[in-house]
Amino acid sequence: MARYTGPSCKLCRREGKKLFLKGDRCLSDKCAISRRPTAPGPHAQGRKGAVKEYGMQHREKMTARRYYGVLENQFKGYYEQADKQAGVAGANLLSILERRLDNVVYRMGLASSRKEARQLIRHAHFTLNGKKVDIPSIILKVGDVIALKDKSRSSEKFKVLAEQMAAVITPKWLEVDKDNFSCKMIAVPQREDIDFPFEEQLIIELYSK
Ligand code: SF4
Repeated sequence: MARYTGPSCKLCRREGKKLFLKGDRCLSDKCAISRRPTAPGPHAQGRKGAVKEYGMQHREKMTARRYYGVLENQFKGYYEQADKQAGVAGANLLSILERRLDNVVYRMGLASSRKEARQLIRHAHFTLNGKKVDIPSIILKVGDVIALKDKSRSSEKFKVLAEQMAAVITPKWLEVDKDNFSCKMIAVPQREDIDFPFEEQLIIELYSK
């Protein structure tokens, strides 16, 4: 399935939640879901009836996929991986998603959204453990170090992002060195470290059928 290229705000309105897909705009009064919190499309009002179990599970999966910007096949692969691991499958799934390289670049404050983080990684602005990296979906391990390339530090874009980075509160499983634009993963993210209100059990129930 191809990656969605339409308006990001439409996805938030479809899920009825702020998915934070557009950087600073999401925190401003220009946020579309704050101004018009209804589902998009001419038949949106007709969809208000009781949502069946499958519908709720499907919507929760779509929310998670859209929040992290992951395609269906990849997402299913993460579920299979999470299900094989020890512990609670839902928490494992979210932990894998949080450890994606694009999410980590976003969490460390060097991109205003996960989408922007993906673009910056594809343009090879970062290193992983000292080596060039351009694959946003890499899942990081404890001890991995992400850094902005020396050459990229002088660009205007990163000068602006560096200012924003100073104000970002990073999760406790990442140790960020703001002076050197780098970050080390020091622990595996736990469920309580992930602040988005997912009902991940619904996703697990959907795939377990
Ligand atoms: Fe979603 Fe951000 Fe658009 Fe608001 S501004 S609807 S949070 S993408």
